[in-house]
Amino acid sequence: MLLVVIMAAVLWGIGAALGTPRRLRWGMIAGLWAAVVLTHLVLPLGHPIRMATGESPAFWLMLGGTVAIVLLYRAGLRRLRTRSAQAREAQPVRKPLFSGTELERYARHIVLREIGGPGQKALKEARVLVIGAGGLGSPALLYLAAAGVGTIGVIDDDLVDNSNLQRQVIHRDKDIGLPKVHSAMAAMLAQNPNIVVRPYQRRLTPEIAADLFADYDLILDGTDNFDTRYLANASAAAQGKPLISGALSQWEGQLSVFDPANGAPCYQCIFPNAPAPGLAPSCAEAGVLGPLPGVVGAMMAAEAIKLIIGAGHALRGEMLIYDALYGESRKIGLNRRKDCPICGEQGENDDQHIAG
Ligand code: ZN
Repeated sequence: MLLVVIMAAVLWGIGAALGTPRRLRWGMIAGLWAAVVLTHLVLPLGHPIRMATGESPAFWLMLGGTVAIVLLYRAGLRRLRTRSAQAREAQPVRKPLFSGTELERYARHIVLREIGGPGQKALKEARVLVIGAGGLGSPALLYLAAAGVGTIGVIDDDLVDNSNLQRQVIHRDKDIGLPKVHSAMAAMLAQNPNIVVRPYQRRLTPEIAADLFADYDLILDGTDNFDTRYLANASAAAQGKPLISGALSQWEGQLSVFDPANGAPCYQCIFPNAPAPGLAPSCAEAGVLGPLPGVVGAMMAAEAIKLIIGAGHALRGEMLIYDALYGESRKIGLNRRKDCPICGEQGENDDQHIAG
């Protein structure tokens, strides 16, 4: 037995002296073990070599078995370790929804009980379309951007005009002549680079309305023409999306949330027919107080945030009227009309109106 141990030690020593890798040296010792076992199995009982190496193969077989078990156990352990490391690596690194800067920016929202972390997350994930980057669109777009609404679409085919700047505060003097959507986008991203703005420099038409609205959760209408208002109403109602609508005239503004999918009337319930030409003069004809769209547009943004986070009571089935000349505001109740071609009993399942 001692002979084998000495031989193993000599093998190890020679290997070490020659700089043989450890693995190879262990292999040589395993070879020695195999030779000893073979000797015991081949040579007859009582042979001098067998007597010198422990007489019976039992010891050597047990030694080999024990070493084999230890090696197998270690190999298994190593495999488990690599597998769990691989599993850790395979897990996608979850990027936090908000950066530290964003958390700091939205801190005054997050402390509000009605918003908090979940509300701010809902705002970030929300997609809001604003029709018109004019008087109402200016404050609405800026406040939605500042509030952290993640994706904001803005559609308008107009260019910034000198006469807009008395009230359309999203545009600057240097923007005169530029498309309003591009000027608005630049201002919004300058105010909050953590959002996505999608500009559509075109008029809202029946051909594009359905596809465009499908990309958004809710729509803000700040246009000044009735064709677009009726089209926006029909398209939003067809997709069951709320339409926050604002309008202005001289010193007075009004807003409401048209949402027939939630039992509220739609725009056409309240205004079944466009007024005859000349009866509803535009801002250009009648004039409008500069800060008035600021008041109403900011209220539209507030309604949008409430709808996104589900807080308070949105202006569904109600119209808020603000009279700047007398500093008065009042609310009137609005009712659905059964014969409304958009959301009434005949209109509900009729898709014809979307095209017209
Ligand atoms: Zn209706």
